[in-house]
Amino acid sequence: MTVLVTGGAGYIGSHMVHALVEAGESVVVVDNLSTGFSDFLPRSVPLVIGDAADEDLVEGLLVRHRVESIIHFAGSIVVPDSMRDPLGYYRNNTMTTRSLLNSAVKCGVNRFIFSSTAAVYGNPDQVPVPEHAATRPTSPYGSSKLMTEIMLHDAAEAHGMSYVVLRYFNVAGADPLGRAGLSTVGATHLLKIAVEAATGQRAKIDVFGTDYPTPDGSCIRDFIHVSDLAEAHRAALSYLRQGGGSTTLNCGYGRGYSVLETIEAVRRVSMRKLAVQHAPRRPGDIMAMVADTRRIRATLDWTPRHDDLDTIAAHALAWEEKLLRERGGLARQAKSA
Ligand code: UDP
Repeated sequence: MTVLVTGGAGYIGSHMVHALVEAGESVVVVDNLSTGFSDFLPRSVPLVIGDAADEDLVEGLLVRHRVESIIHFAGSIVVPDSMRDPLGYYRNNTMTTRSLLNSAVKCGVNRFIFSSTAAVYGNPDQVPVPEHAATRPTSPYGSSKLMTEIMLHDAAEAHGMSYVVLRYFNVAGADPLGRAGLSTVGATHLLKIAVEAATGQRAKIDVFGTDYPTPDGSCIRDFIHVSDLAEAHRAALSYLRQGGGSTTLNCGYGRGYSVLETIEAVRRVSMRKLAVQHAPRRPGDIMAMVADTRRIRATLDWTPRHDDLDTIAAHALAWEEKLLRERGGLARQAKSA
């Protein structure tokens, strides 16, 4: 009995694969390596280079490996890119999942875990945001994920499938053992930018907006360590195997840090001076995004182990330093995550 991980060579997917292997699971990965790296993966895990939307390929895999559950990470995740190329996002996120679900239904795979996002909420009316909050995405990225959630719900109802949708808040950090991390070139994510500055790859950090009605004027985010996020998926898999019903869960820690506090954490752990420049608000930014975590804590057997901003910053920094050290490190990096 095997677990198929799509996008298993990517940032979050590779952490998932390590967690599954450590738990003694049989795993197979499908990844087109558009943004992933095969050397993030343990050597024991079969990597099939191809597209999760390739139904012939996927169906062959599902049968050959006797796949019993699918954890689906493959997709596109850059909000501004989705504004420029909405149809590409609907293809890579919504249509690919439609094909994957079709393969799953045909082959009788009836457990499915899906990577969704807090971006489905858009501008929340209340913070922390509960799962039953209105979904009003403000980008094609968020819409492509919300459409997929709806499709998954309908397909599951019709075909006796059980699923867990995990809505990620701000994923950050890296594998504490240094086996995987965020390797994007031209990243837009705050912690990545801050550790690039701390390692001398950027001259300064722009703080987009210091006039928000928040305690220090900058935006607030709920950062979750990527390893804890992978563990949440593992807990979701156990939940489904024990007969748990389909559900949608926020994935965060339930507390927010401001942009300025986050930069300060990177300064603390790196012990380097960081040039911080106040800049205008970034269009489309949401002022405060923090998960209401009551449902995930009540539903899953999940205890976060890295719920600490300095730990997240330290692991992100260690990974960045490793990327820099590695010979040819820059050549390994992708254009986008
Ligand atoms: N941010 C910033 N400077 C940067 C990158 C991000 O001030 O160079 C802010 C951004 O405006 C937002 C927060 O950091 O308020 C988190 O942004 P990120 O892109 O990491 O994630 P998002 O929450 O937008 O998905």
